[in-house]
Amino acid sequence: MTRFTKLFFFAALGLLVFAACEGPLANAMLTVDTTRCVGCGECEDVCPYDAIEVIDGDAVIDPGLCHQCNRCVEVCPEGAIY
Ligand code: SF4
Ligand code: SF4
Repeated sequence: MTRFTKLFFFAALGLLVFAACEGPLANAMLTVDTTRCVGCGECEDVCPYDAIEVIDGDAVIDPGLCHQCNRCVEVCPEGAIY
């Protein structure tokens, strides 16, 4: 394997790993603003990964399950998730 081929191989591998991280790594960025959340549960109903749950009146996101699909962000009537 030439040096160029190795470079290309590892660059492609890096891109694949990055793409595979769509879930947990990216998730940490979503936040529930508890001052806005009214606990309506619409986010919970729409989440395809069971990654968000209303607990004691506030939505809580499980970063280990969230794939950052943004469906909860779009459905929230209070704009509490961003
Ligand atoms: S949809 Fe919005 S207001 Fe309703 S529980 Fe989820 S975060 Fe809270
Ligand atoms: S971003 Fe998608 S996967 Fe994550 S909690 Fe919201 S609806 Fe669920």
